[in-house]
Amino acid sequence: MLPAHAPEFFTTLRTLLGPERCITDQGLLLPWECDGLSHLRQLPIAVLLPETRAEVVEIVRLAAEHGIPLTARGAGTCLSGGATAAQGGALIAFTRMKRILEIDPVNRTARVEPGLVNVRLSEALKPLGLAYMPDPSSQTASTLGGNVAENSGGPHCIKHGNTTMSVLALEVVLADGSVIELGHARGRTEGPDLRGLFVGSEGTLGIVTSITFRLERIPPAELTLLASFADMRSACNGVSSVIAHGILPSAFEAIDDRTIAALEHAGKKSGYPSNAAAVLLLEFDGAAESVRAEADAATALLRAAGALRIEEAEDAAQRARLWKGRKGAYGAMGRLAPDLYVMDTVVPRSRLPEVLPAIGRICDELGLPLANVFHAGEGNLHPNISFDGRNPDQVRRVLEAGRRIVEVCLKAGGALSGEHGIGTEKREFMPLAFGPETIELLHGLKAVFDPGRLLNPDKVLPEPVTCGEMRPAVLRGRSA
Ligand SMILES: Cc1cc2nc3c(=O)[nH]c(=O)nc-3n(C[C@H](O)[C@H](O)[C@H](O)COP(=O)(O)OP(=O)(O)OC[C@H]3O[C@@H](n4cnc5c(N)ncnc54)[C@H](O)[C@@H]3O)c2cc1C
Repeated sequence: MLPAHAPEFFTTLRTLLGPERCITDQGLLLPWECDGLSHLRQLPIAVLLPETRAEVVEIVRLAAEHGIPLTARGAGTCLSGGATAAQGGALIAFTRMKRILEIDPVNRTARVEPGLVNVRLSEALKPLGLAYMPDPSSQTASTLGGNVAENSGGPHCIKHGNTTMSVLALEVVLADGSVIELGHARGRTEGPDLRGLFVGSEGTLGIVTSITFRLERIPPAELTLLASFADMRSACNGVSSVIAHGILPSAFEAIDDRTIAALEHAGKKSGYPSNAAAVLLLEFDGAAESVRAEADAATALLRAAGALRIEEAEDAAQRARLWKGRKGAYGAMGRLAPDLYVMDTVVPRSRLPEVLPAIGRICDELGLPLANVFHAGEGNLHPNISFDGRNPDQVRRVLEAGRRIVEVCLKAGGALSGEHGIGTEKREFMPLAFGPETIELLHGLKAVFDPGRLLNPDKVLPEPVTCGEMRPAVLRGRSA
């Protein structure tokens, strides 16, 4: 049955996509009502599954004509509630647009469709000796379009940069159905960096239909260390000390005792010592000699910071096992309660030793179980709170914890998000981090690309209070 709202929109789309790619049945829509932020739910009026750019253009054009809000969706692993539909809106899901369009080994570039799952690109590149570096822990599920929209990070982004560092060019469908190219496969382009503006814009400015990435060579050597500590403070001091001495590991992760216990509980053989209060997982990549020298220097610094034990992965199998623990951490924590709130904030790494206990106190006061697994080298925190989303009091306490954690991090010189974006989750916190002029300017920017506010309209930006706030002061002045 077609929704009563805008029937012509749906009849045209049914003809264009066929019923199996224009889902409107209530029961079939249920799996699409939330993303990784499971306590925020909104049933879409439809899920549309295009297979080509031409179909995307047609969907966007029809949505504009009928005033239907559209939210782009990759794998729905977003942890900030960015991939849920707006009220009365549809999802345009990219799971069927997942082709690798071109790999150019000579110029080290790859052009892909947005629905390609991150790890599939790495798998295709490996036989060519090439690598796509950004590796969110969700890389076996999350799509490259989602990664671009969130400017995703990952364990190896401390050295190789978040997604934006690897994006050379984008093809984008704007809110009126027009198609633009941003950036260039050869790298630098003239004028303002509109490519950069779109990376991290969370689907609010346009819909990405193809991406050209910069590739790197697979590093000739890699070395992985696991350092265990009796307390998290010493581990964090170790992180600061290594980086302050000019050593930049390609990954620098921290995992606390509660996460280690969750991994044990889930039966994952991570190999992390069960008596440690915290472990650091470090990796070095590059030429064999420099990798060895950096690892030796880091080992000495971590010992000086109080490491109880430092273990070096002896072979690829042991290395994979150590990473399996880190990358399986959320899955293991997900078994502890029906819901898991994976928060994301960032602080200067030197402030970690004071911020982590402050977060612990907040959760203790609110009676919430907390575990930490995070990108320590970047000061990018992920306090993880297990809870039951069916219990309104628990949800209230989780949201209260979220606000207080954000406040602590901002006070310590941090930012709202290190990598998961603002989405719905942190939308109301934007005024804590940005002044009214900046928020007004961001509303104006949205209005330039999406004047009808139809693309992911209820994300990132807090509701404008007045009509005037829809346009930046500079534009208002001009028309006055
Ligand atoms: C277990 C787990 C581990 C995670 N680890 C990390 C991590 O290490 N680092 C990290 O940064 N994040 C991590 N995340 C968060 C999440 O995986 C990332 O934000 C990821 O980039 C989302 O990709 P997706 O395909 O699932 O996108 P979705 O969740 O479907 O969408 C995310 C956003 O992208 C927009 N979008 C999607 N496709 C397009 C498109 N074609 N055009 C325009 N906008 C689009 C959506 O509208 C939405 O705003 C993790 C999540 C989970 C569940």
